[in-house]
Amino acid sequence: MNPVRTRVAPSPTGDPHVGTAYIALFNRCFAHSHKGQLVLRIEDTDKARSSVESEKKIMDSLSWLGLSWDEGPDIGGEYGPYRQSERADIYTQHINTLLDNRSAFRCFCTPQRLQELRAEQVKQKTTPGYDGHCLRLSDEDVAEKRQNKELHVIRMKVPSEGDCLFEDGLRGEISIPWVQIDQQVLMKSDGLPTYHFANVVDDHLMKISHVIRGEEWINSTPKHLLLYKYFDWQPPQFFHMPLLRNPDKSKLSKRKNPTSIFYYRDMGYLPEAVVNYLGMMGWTMPGGEEKFSIGEMTDQFDIQRVSLGGPVFDLEKLDWLNGKYIRENLDDDELIEQFVKWAMGNDRVKQLVPLIKQRIEKFTDLESLAGFMFSGLLDISADRFVHKSLDDSQCRKILQFSLWRMESIAAWNRDKVELQLQELAVAMDMKIRDFLFPLFIAVTGKAVSMSVIDAMAILGLDLVRTRLRYAITTLGGISKKQLKQLEREYQQM
Ligand code: GLU
Repeated sequence: MNPVRTRVAPSPTGDPHVGTAYIALFNRCFAHSHKGQLVLRIEDTDKARSSVESEKKIMDSLSWLGLSWDEGPDIGGEYGPYRQSERADIYTQHINTLLDNRSAFRCFCTPQRLQELRAEQVKQKTTPGYDGHCLRLSDEDVAEKRQNKELHVIRMKVPSEGDCLFEDGLRGEISIPWVQIDQQVLMKSDGLPTYHFANVVDDHLMKISHVIRGEEWINSTPKHLLLYKYFDWQPPQFFHMPLLRNPDKSKLSKRKNPTSIFYYRDMGYLPEAVVNYLGMMGWTMPGGEEKFSIGEMTDQFDIQRVSLGGPVFDLEKLDWLNGKYIRENLDDDELIEQFVKWAMGNDRVKQLVPLIKQRIEKFTDLESLAGFMFSGLLDISADRFVHKSLDDSQCRKILQFSLWRMESIAAWNRDKVELQLQELAVAMDMKIRDFLFPLFIAVTGKAVSMSVIDAMAILGLDLVRTRLRYAITTLGGISKKQLKQLEREYQQM
């Protein structure tokens, strides 16, 4: 039998998401319970959205959780490189195979034509997708266009009738009509592969035996299986895990729940508890235990025990479990050690000291000046936001707009926070003092404190986001309709 090899294949395009850790955990348990390997592959073919910082954050956050991998960009392995941006030649070579056997074709359609096509399909209420226009080009036409250096992409051919049938290891047989499957672009005009193409080529070359991934990829699986067929390769087995959900059952999103792994680190959860909690998402131990380690989960792992009902990521349950770990797994000395590690983490204290040194006379002043740095949600109420020239709705607007601005910062640092807020105050035509007032209350809990910009810079986006959102809720919240209006206003600014 072939060795079991699984992979986790995040795209480094933002904060390290709990969904990535969840998928990594199940892949790791599956591989290790079969004495196999887990591969970490970085899918960074989207040049504009991928970043080195994000890749580092993903690796740091998985390491923090103890979700180590057996092969990956940092530790290498037999099947590297493990970063797709370093595999361009491999993709070029493989696309040529598909062009040669005529299962892929060059498409010279302009973005404008594609846009018009789409608009027409929307109007006619037909399935949107490419209409096969360039399939009709003769070899001579193609040669001429290439000679003239016309920009083009490479698409895969897709049958126009029948169904794609495949077996999902958790869901049984799935059938998707081919008419619903687009003639997917495999190579973009810049010569870089799309996710679908690079993912299949790499899964094959890295000898991945089982693909365990989120259910959002089910509809892409026909394209992937077709590519295996075109290459005449044996496909891996597919398992589509249920998506994590917010308590209201919608897909887990940072609007409703903190989704960055670092949020949980910075809030002072223990990594063992977070991993244990992720293990409870759709999975139960055969003996029904709720508290278990990765090792115990691996020992008992049977993927058929995964249940498909959308698992709810519930912070109260996580709090309960984390409390249990604190009490049951750490003696007092270990707790002190962990606590100090957390408090000093992220260089928080180091960054804080020069800022408060000028203002304190004795250590006990620290609490009133910077206690908020070590808290989760602050104890604030709507009356704290009373201000001589701002009403509640203006405060909510400032908080919401600031939140959007903060989320647009790619690499978080003090200067960027300051610049974004200053620009926003100007765009909103407000005095900076008034503008900063609701931010002071939301982030520090007080109208007067150390600089709120410094505070935000040190706290980081995850905690800032949670506090701004909490402040908006405290002020009565923003309805869906109001949010739409604010979005419009924000975009016009
Ligand atoms: N890069 C994809 C992602 O970001 C991987 C999907 C897959 O596992 O096939 O989720």
